[in-house]
Parts: sequence; C-alpha cells; structure tokens
Amino acid sequence: MSATPRTPHASSLGAARRGRELAELADAAAPVDVLVVGLGATGAGVALDAASRGLTVAAVDAHDLAFGTSRWSSKLIHGGLRYLASGQLDVARESAVERGVLMERTAPHLVHAQPFVLPLTPLVPRRNATLAWSGLRAGDLLRASARTARATLPGPRRLSAVETLELAPGLRPYGLRGGLLSWDGQLADDARLVTAIARTAAAHGARVLTRVRALTLDGTGALVRDELTGEQLEIKARAVVNATGVWAGTLAGDIRLRPSRGTHLVLRSEALGGMRTGLHIPVPGESDRFVLVLPQGDGRVYVGLTDEPLDGPVPDVPKVPETDIGFLLDVLGSALDVPLRRGDVAGAFAGLRPLLDSGGADGDRTSDLSRRHAVLTSPDGVVTVVGGKLTTYRRMAQDAVDAVVAARGLSAGPCRTARLPLVGAAAPGTLAALDAPRRLVRRYGTEAPAVHALAVADPGLGRPVVPGLAVTAAELVWAVRHEGALDEADLLDRRTRIGLVPADRDAALAAAREALRELPAPSSPR
Ligand SMILES: Cc1cc2nc3c(=O)[nH]c(=O)nc-3n(C[C@H](O)[C@H](O)[C@H](O)COP(=O)(O)OP(=O)(O)OC[C@H]3O[C@@H](n4cnc5c(N)ncnc54)[C@H](O)[C@@H]3O)c2cc1C
Repeated sequence: MSATPRTPHASSLGAARRGRELAELADAAAPVDVLVVGLGATGAGVALDAASRGLTVAAVDAHDLAFGTSRWSSKLIHGGLRYLASGQLDVARESAVERGVLMERTAPHLVHAQPFVLPLTPLVPRRNATLAWSGLRAGDLLRASARTARATLPGPRRLSAVETLELAPGLRPYGLRGGLLSWDGQLADDARLVTAIARTAAAHGARVLTRVRALTLDGTGALVRDELTGEQLEIKARAVVNATGVWAGTLAGDIRLRPSRGTHLVLRSEALGGMRTGLHIPVPGESDRFVLVLPQGDGRVYVGLTDEPLDGPVPDVPKVPETDIGFLLDVLGSALDVPLRRGDVAGAFAGLRPLLDSGGADGDRTSDLSRRHAVLTSPDGVVTVVGGKLTTYRRMAQDAVDAVVAARGLSAGPCRTARLPLVGAAAPGTLAALDAPRRLVRRYGTEAPAVHALAVADPGLGRPVVPGLAVTAAELVWAVRHEGALDEADLLDRRTRIGLVPADRDAALAAAREALRELPAPSSPR
C-alpha cells in the first residue's frame, strides 16, 4: 500500500486553516483549476481526485462535511446484488469493484466484512428462498469477477435452524426452516468516510471549506457566502463541479431529480436479544424487498429502510414520518420472537436518495429508478455529478474529473484514487498491530494511537461522554483539532454519531461545548 502524504498537519482541517484559505481565495488573482460545490462523499471524492492529479482545488459546503444524504445511508459498501436482480449488470459490477477497492486498498480501517442472515421463516415461500440463494451465489461470482479475495468477503452458506438461531437469538423459532448466510462490506460510519476523503484531499493541497454556500454558479466560478460572517466573495475557477446531491437542481436549473426518502430506526442492541449478525428480513408478500437489521458494534442497531417519493421542496434535514416507523416495526415483527414497540425506538433518521428523473411516468416507483450515476454538463459549462451511491463515490469522482479535464483542457495526471489510501488506512496486519483500543482503530485507523494518547495524557478525556456509549471526550477534541469540527452539531451529529439518539445528544452537549473551547477566538487566527 503506497503512503498518503502524512506530515502531521497536512490533512488536518480546522477553524484557523479555514480562515486562512478563505482569505487566500478572496485575494487570489488566478482562478483555481477546479471548484467543487458540495462535500458529501461525491464532492469530497471529486476534490481528492482532482487534487491528487495535481490540479488546484477549492471545495465548499454550505454546512459541514457529510451534512447531506451521505450521513443518512445504511452504511453499507455493497456489492450491487440488487442491481444484478434488476438486470443492471454494469452497475452491479461497478459496485463490486469499488467495494473491493475500499476494503482492500483505500479504506480497510473503515470497512469491514459483515455477515447477514436471511431467515427462512414460514412467510418466505420455498420458491423465494431458492431465488434468494441463486442471488447470493451470483453475488459471490460478482465478488470473484471484481477480484476481491474470499478472505476479504467469505462466500454464502446455507444454515440450519439451530445455526440461524445461534447467530440471531431474537428470531422467532416457530416454523424457522434455517437461514442463508452472506457477507457484504459495512462502514464504521458513513460521515467518517466523508471526513477521511476530505482530509485526504486536504493532504493533497485541496482547500476544503465548510460553512461556505454557493449562491450562484457558472462554468467560470461561483458567488459564495461565508455562512459564519455573512461576507460574500467570488471564487474564480477553470472548471466547476456541482456535487450537491438532492440539491443539485437548485444550482443547475436543467437538472431534474426525483428524491426518494429512506428511513432507518435506531434501536439499542438489547432490544433485539444480542444479534451477532445483520439480517435481511423479507418484506411479507414481496419477493425482492428486504428490511435490513444492521448492528453497529456500539450498542446500537439500525433497521431500515423505506423507499418513498418525496413531495415538495427538499428540506435540509428530512423528517421521519410515523408511517415509516410503523412499517419497519411491522416487518421486524414478522420475524422476531418478541415484537418491538414504538417505545423501543431510541431514534430514527431519514435520508433522500438523489435519483435522476429519467423522464418516466410520474407514477413510477422510486425503487425502480436506476441507481446509475450521471455526469451532466449544463449549457453554462457547470458539470454536475449526481446519482450513484456511497460505494461508488470514487468512480463518480473519476468520471467527473475526466469530464472537466477534457472539456477545459486542464493539464492533469491520470486518476490515482484507486490506489490512494485515505487518511488512517493501512494494511490489515499494520492495523492489527496498532497500540490502541480496537474500537478506535476501526474509526481512526493509523491515527487511533494519537487519539488514544489524548485520553492517556488526560484521564478526563478518556471517560465516555454519555453513559453506555464508548465515545470519549478525546474523540471530540480530536475532531476540533484535526477534523474541521466547528460547532456542537459537527461534533455530535457528524464526527461522532451520538446525536442519532436525541437523549444521548442532550447528555453529550456539555462535553461538546467543552471540546469547542479548543477553537481559536474569532479575531485571533492561530
Ligand atoms: C436512506 C439511504 C440509504 C442509503 N444507503 C446506502 C448504502 O448503504 N450504501 C451506499 O453505497 N449508498 C447508500 N445510499 C446512497 C448514498 O448515501 C448517496 O448516493 C450519497 O451519499 C450521495 O452523496 P452526495 O455527495 O452526492 O450527496 P450529499 O451527501 O447529499 O452531499 C451534498 C452536499 O452538498 C451540500 N450543498 C447543497 N447545496 C449547497 C450549496 N448551495 N453550496 C454549498 N454546498 C451545498 C450539502 O450541504 C451536502 O453536504 C443511501 C441513500 C439513502 C437516502
């Protein structure tokens, strides 16, 4: 694995760097090569791709890293099985290839192999079980064709009823015929992936600026507003990439999206009886739709997800309707021995899929719209990259940068990101040998010992910020010093995911405020 530039602070984001780089951009006489708007997985990926090809880059987000859809995903780096089922072989293969890139080269610290069991309950007809088994076998062939090692992702296996219950003791034993075991990639956290991509871009010289909103764009730059001061400035650029996901149409009028809402529940793991695996629970009466049970390893389990068209304007943070919660609890209840009640739901979150409107009938189900990504050039020269998924962010970024390099005649090297480790990445042996708690290694990779050292030096920082959750104050301080966290929401809702449970968020607010005392005073940049 080749090394990322690792001078200690080249990848560090923070208030002081933000202030300095914004001032440089305001004073700059020459345009940057590429201005990226939006710092979800896609925009951060574009910033990294362009910067690592030797281009000068500014990348802005109106809010924070991973403020949008990228933090509301199922946190799966998946092999594209469902695209195989719908005959989109190219989309499925692209997913499988990108999953291998993340798991074996660029982010082995953040993505691990997660087992999933599909329980064969009385509600799963034998014909559907046979179909599901064929699908899992095909998924394994896809893994092999993407050259991902079986040691990285084991093959599928049929389970007896006893084995199924051993892995998932919460399942209803009555009538259980067995289960189908399969493996896929699971992220430690989606917002942390975006942070790692953005910091790797910064290590390659990209200016990564949060709280900077693009007001208007064209092919030669943007009028932006510093959301902290209200000041406006022009950023001049040779090429502009619009990576604003579900908001893409607000900046490029010719882009039409049909967002669809996906909801997840957050449950405490005790509520599910000590699940040792994820679950694919078939939606009763449907052969190709499943509710996923996703253990997070932090005492929480996510259960999702829905797929409902969004009506009306796109909100900053989507609300979760009670109907989505009821649907997910009902499907869970079809397979669990002790059904869960509304009171067992500790939190819930919804995200909006940035699906391209392909011009089909208005009544088309959003679940049928393609998850293919698109790179579209508007008449004014702005390049929009949209659609796709977290798993394929790298490929989306490559296609977008290829497009602007060709259209603008930029002088750039070839794409390098398939072999470029993200901040914290290392080979499994190196990660295993790190002297730090395993939980930190799974979130911070090679930086885990430095995060842990903060807690060792000051035991006050080593204590959990919320009883029952492992997150420590050291992680909050690290996020302020190195990960660009500027306020409580950045700390609690994105660098850590404490905020997914409102009661935990309330309990952690004081610790977040304490960590933010690390920030420089507004008038005295460090
Ligand atoms: C419920 C759900 C579950 C999913 N699960 C998975 C999964 O398990 N695996 C997977 O691979 N994919 C998954 N996806 C798909 C994946 O999450 C998205 O495709 C991906 O996150 C989109 O990223 P993005 O960067 O394009 O958009 P976003 O993450 O939405 O980023 C857009 C950014 O643009 C910023 N922005 C908007 N307007 C402006 C402006 N004017 N100026 C500056 N910045 C602006 C926003 O603040 C935001 O940060 C899921 C999607 C949903 C909805």
